[in-house]
Amino acid sequence: MSTTSTLPPFNPSDPAGIDDFLTEEERAIRDAVRRLAQEIEPKVATWFEEGRIDDPRALMKRFGDMGLLGMHLEGYGCAGMSAVDYGLACIELEACDSGIRSMVSVQGSLAMFAIWKFGSEEHKQTWLPQMATGDLIGCFGLTEPDHGSDPGSMRTRARRDGDEWVLDGQKMWITNGSIADVAVVWAQTDEGIRGFVVPTNTPGFSAPEIKHKMSLRASVTSELVLDSVRLPADAVFPDVRGLKGPLSCLSEARFGIVWGALGAARSALDTAVKYSKERVQFGRPIGGFQLTQQKIADMTLELVKGQLLALHLGRRKDAGTLRPEQVSLGKLNNIREAIEICRTARTILGANGISLEFPIMRHANNLKSVLTYEGTVEMHTLVVGQAMTGLSAFR
Ligand SMILES: Cc1cc2nc3c(=O)[nH]c(=O)nc-3n(C[C@H](O)[C@H](O)[C@H](O)COP(=O)(O)OP(=O)(O)OC[C@H]3O[C@@H](n4cnc5c(N)ncnc54)[C@H](O)[C@@H]3O)c2cc1C
Repeated sequence: MSTTSTLPPFNPSDPAGIDDFLTEEERAIRDAVRRLAQEIEPKVATWFEEGRIDDPRALMKRFGDMGLLGMHLEGYGCAGMSAVDYGLACIELEACDSGIRSMVSVQGSLAMFAIWKFGSEEHKQTWLPQMATGDLIGCFGLTEPDHGSDPGSMRTRARRDGDEWVLDGQKMWITNGSIADVAVVWAQTDEGIRGFVVPTNTPGFSAPEIKHKMSLRASVTSELVLDSVRLPADAVFPDVRGLKGPLSCLSEARFGIVWGALGAARSALDTAVKYSKERVQFGRPIGGFQLTQQKIADMTLELVKGQLLALHLGRRKDAGTLRPEQVSLGKLNNIREAIEICRTARTILGANGISLEFPIMRHANNLKSVLTYEGTVEMHTLVVGQAMTGLSAFR
């Protein structure tokens, strides 16, 4: 029988001892991404304040150099790592900033994944190797000004004109849009919704940046305008038709969010714990008050539960048994709890909690976008509700 003295010490950075469930290689990848994220983080508050990223191309290249772009895809220059490796990377990137994680997620899980999964051999050879290195940037255009949660009603249209396709329409809220070299654009055709690979230097394509955001400010978000954009016949994904194409890409990206949101939450909790030990009121550190400890204990519980759920879903994904409904469970829980953790952590910092000197309010604001994109919290509630009852409440 083991005695207390033989137990490993309690580690506040890993309260439930989840590291023990990771392989040495997984921990090494996590630590390497953490070092990169920590290098970027000192600049992020300024980027957030100014609503821009310094040299996004150079930043994407750094992610590429580290093998983080499309890291869980096989071939075409991608690193071919596991889903858990990808999840661990997302946590570290989002501990830095959700905008930084979004930049990597959209490149790898939306734009690259769509081409990797649905593109022709020529699409893959043309785009993926340079997207994996970060030399080329991709975006993913599904949402429109009038059609977000219900993309099946989209109005962007592609029509055949001889040997060409002609695309007309507008996409909205597209991450990386203005810095992209290639856009995956979903459009209505006579055969239902189809996906197109659109080089962004094609005449008729433009991507004005969306300004005045209060969230994901260290991230490029754009409108895509398609004004008689002419593409060759082979610009279309050959075999996929209907919403299952874009929705399967979204499921990939949501998987990253299941993990990433916990990075923002972890950063908020760590900041609050440190602050509570240093900030003295009524003659003692505020971390010594029971009300503060209640908050810290509750945040710790939710963080740990989220980490266990993410790891469980990641192992299922690597085993090939992860269902989209399970990704919805993960996204719904982890993003909701991550926001709650940020809210609570902010109260521990009092007035300092609203300052950009600390990351908490930045994370909280960012997570408002994460709550909405890749399926709103309501949509994932309806997915789980439908899965549990067999009844659809979408319409
Ligand atoms: C920063 C940012 C980056 C983004 N990046 C991308 C990107 O790269 N590519 C891309 O294609 N999109 C992107 N999006 C768009 C995002 O996916 C959409 O905003 C999201 O799908 C919701 O669509 P909407 O904003 O049109 O809201 P709406 O669909 O209009 O929803 C408004 C509200 O109504 C609720 N609602 C809608 N239908 C129902 C229903 N049946 N039952 C109950 N409630 C309902 C919603 O849950 C929500 O609360 C991004 C968004 C943001 C904020």
